[in-house]
Amino acid sequence: MAYRTFARSQAGLVDSLVEYGVIRSPEVEAVMRSIDRAHFTDQPEVAYVDAPLGIGFSATISAPHMHAYALELLLDRLRPGARVLDVGSGTGYLTAAFAKLVSRGGAPGKATGIEHIPELTRKALANLAKDPALVQLMEGGHLELVVGDGRKGWPAGAPYDAIHVGAAAPRLPPDLIEQLAPGGRLVVPVGPEGGMQSLAVVDKAADGSVRKRNLMSVMYVPLTSKEHQLEDASDSE
Ligand code: SAH
Repeated sequence: MAYRTFARSQAGLVDSLVEYGVIRSPEVEAVMRSIDRAHFTDQPEVAYVDAPLGIGFSATISAPHMHAYALELLLDRLRPGARVLDVGSGTGYLTAAFAKLVSRGGAPGKATGIEHIPELTRKALANLAKDPALVQLMEGGHLELVVGDGRKGWPAGAPYDAIHVGAAAPRLPPDLIEQLAPGGRLVVPVGPEGGMQSLAVVDKAADGSVRKRNLMSVMYVPLTSKEHQLEDASDSE
């Protein structure tokens, strides 16, 4: 990123993402305005800085510009009524944004976030509980967080119109491609831990055939086993 914004409010942060052309659509703008990033971090003084922030367990809340890119890339698949899987849901911010978009206008859409660290899932539920609109989505069955190994997806909710992965997979995860609906899209960072990773977009056509494009270089925490991630967490203490 050639810029970094130091906004003082959610509105200021979204204004700058619009100004820099990262947010392009009114839908993504509205959903990001409506979910306060300060609810999803223990560092309120830097909540509106466009950078990832540590959340413990070697995990981060992604930078707002990455949340915005992911939402823009998936927007066509986030129609009211759609089903979404957010793998490596971390704080729950992006899962909440997906849930809001797919349940627009009272539609029966649903977003499921899967995270393998139970403590992070508990924290994410507490984050979501700070906003009555998000509590309502959870109570209405539009937003759920589950604990599990996201490399295997979440077959119970498949097939998905959109799958987002918030951590870098060493290679394209076959189970996630399998769980994509015809016409669905998967956005996943692919590449080695700490190395060259690129953001891949995988589209499944109506006939089930799959097409992959690499969009840009990115830097994400690894999509890995719980044991490996927790080893890393104790190394850095
Ligand atoms: N979009 C999230 C990103 C969190 S960082 C946010 O902005 O809050 C990536 C997350 O992926 C971490 O929380 C990490 O614990 C999780 N993760 C890594 N490997 C995973 C796996 N195999 N299954 C589920 N979650 C995983």
